[in-house]
Amino acid sequence: MEAIDVLIVGAGPVGLTLAVELETAGVHAVVLDRLAVPDAVPKARGVGVLGSEALRRRGMGAALQRWDSALRREFRREMGSDRGQFAWIHKLDTTVLGGGDGRTGALIWQPDLELVLAEAALGLGCDVRRGQRVTQIRQDGGRVHVAVETDAGEVRYAASYVVGCDGGRSVVRKSAGFEFPGVDATTLTRVARVRPVDPEAFPARIRTARGTLQYREFRDGWVRVRVSEPDPDGIGARETAPVTVGEFQDSLERVTGVDVRLDEIAEARRMRVTSRQAATYRLGRILLAGDAAHVHSPAGGQGLNLGIMDAVNLGWKLAAVVAGDGDDELLNSYTRERHPVGARVIANTLAQAALLEPTPEVNALREIFSDLMDIPDVQAHLGRLLSGVDERYPLPYVGEHRSLGMHLPDFVVDDTTLYMLMSGGRPLLLYTPFAAEAAAAAADWDDRVHVVPVHLLGRLDLSAALIRPDGVLAWAAGVSDEPALDSLTDALSTWFGPSRSAVAR
Ligand SMILES: Cc1cc2nc3c(=O)[nH]c(=O)nc-3n(C[C@H](O)[C@H](O)[C@H](O)COP(=O)(O)OP(=O)(O)OC[C@H]3O[C@@H](n4cnc5c(N)ncnc54)[C@H](O)[C@@H]3O)c2cc1C
Repeated sequence: MEAIDVLIVGAGPVGLTLAVELETAGVHAVVLDRLAVPDAVPKARGVGVLGSEALRRRGMGAALQRWDSALRREFRREMGSDRGQFAWIHKLDTTVLGGGDGRTGALIWQPDLELVLAEAALGLGCDVRRGQRVTQIRQDGGRVHVAVETDAGEVRYAASYVVGCDGGRSVVRKSAGFEFPGVDATTLTRVARVRPVDPEAFPARIRTARGTLQYREFRDGWVRVRVSEPDPDGIGARETAPVTVGEFQDSLERVTGVDVRLDEIAEARRMRVTSRQAATYRLGRILLAGDAAHVHSPAGGQGLNLGIMDAVNLGWKLAAVVAGDGDDELLNSYTRERHPVGARVIANTLAQAALLEPTPEVNALREIFSDLMDIPDVQAHLGRLLSGVDERYPLPYVGEHRSLGMHLPDFVVDDTTLYMLMSGGRPLLLYTPFAAEAAAAAADWDDRVHVVPVHLLGRLDLSAALIRPDGVLAWAAGVSDEPALDSLTDALSTWFGPSRSAVAR
């Protein structure tokens, strides 16, 4: 049986991002996906600020930029503006969605993003195997055993670590026995592109106790529709047969009271929004990332960003553990850092779900909330909430800089930029001549940390900075302080293992 260090289940956006992170860090990954060809269903139409910054650090900036420019025009045409939404109230200025600092996400349809990621992963030597459906997983001692169904029969794999990036219905999560607590919504939503017989007679958008109908503009006779209705026992959601024209028409009629005739439907699916999160993201040698670890409503378009940032957090840690430079504690920091972020996204999507309840009381509350969203401070708060740019990982050592534990935006460093310097995936210690003692303190880690002297740091609040491969500021010296060297060595050993001299002792 072949020796596999890391087996990733699922070649969706999260599995592919993880593959890119592992390969960049020098660890070979095998990715399995049940689909013979990638899924063409559009799902997400954009990736948030932190996710797109992470992909820019790995050289995918130009591709994201191309798609973003093309889609932004389309988005404006379709929506009348490029404003973002909270609970489908479209009032958020796109600048606030980057935290107001000029940081932006990128508009890109999910299948196109998956192509960009697959190209990056394959270019780095990653092995993506399609038509392989994982059916069971079990770990004993030092290996994880995976049973896989293919057209040619059953295949078995064994790997040192397995990461389930296999989406909301994750077989890895279920088979490995992860707890997945949360709540199920009491409504069923059907989503599709539909072509009505008579677009003029199509019912108006509606929100009543019978359900809600939402849609955007018609184009060439087609419109993307979302119709939700009560389904308290989840009976509709358990249906597995494809959604038919008749089923869609009936649902539209129950919700709107209008007998709607449809010529055709495409990309139809049923969704029951559940809000659940794995109690831990790691059980021994099995880990979860993306929708496999957390599911919630798509309100506010946060799922993709959240999952990509799970992969970015996990990638370098798992690579260090496989290479023998990291320990169990480092791997446990993945759940410690990412679980609270997932919980906060679930909380804000539940708040949005509450604001979408079709009752007269909530309609009145929406009016007030909509007015509040005209206030710049409220806009800024919601922008930070949805983009996650204010998220701060708690660090297990002392440090005072205001950006510690946060993801850094790109900035100029001499004649290059921070993200260019980070493209190789190594942690960085940047230091100016005012903080040269930081370089001396870090010398014992320079086999793992890239120590870089610089003259110009495009951040006026830094004279030295230790930056993890996921873009998180792990230690910093301000311009007017003496560098705190004890805290620097604590940071280095926390994230990158003991110093060479400690190992030699
Ligand atoms: C209608 C809709 C609209 C959305 N809009 C947005 C949005 O605007 N912005 C946003 O950020 N998010 C949005 N989301 C959420 C976003 O699409 C998900 O968060 C994202 O797809 C999660 O990626 P993932 O890689 O974790 O899982 P997935 O994309 O589900 O990928 C999982 C992969 O695993 C494979 N797989 C599954 N089971 C197995 C198995 N047993 N063996 C092998 N392979 C397997 C699948 O084939 C798939 O390729 C939306 C979701 C939906 C449904």
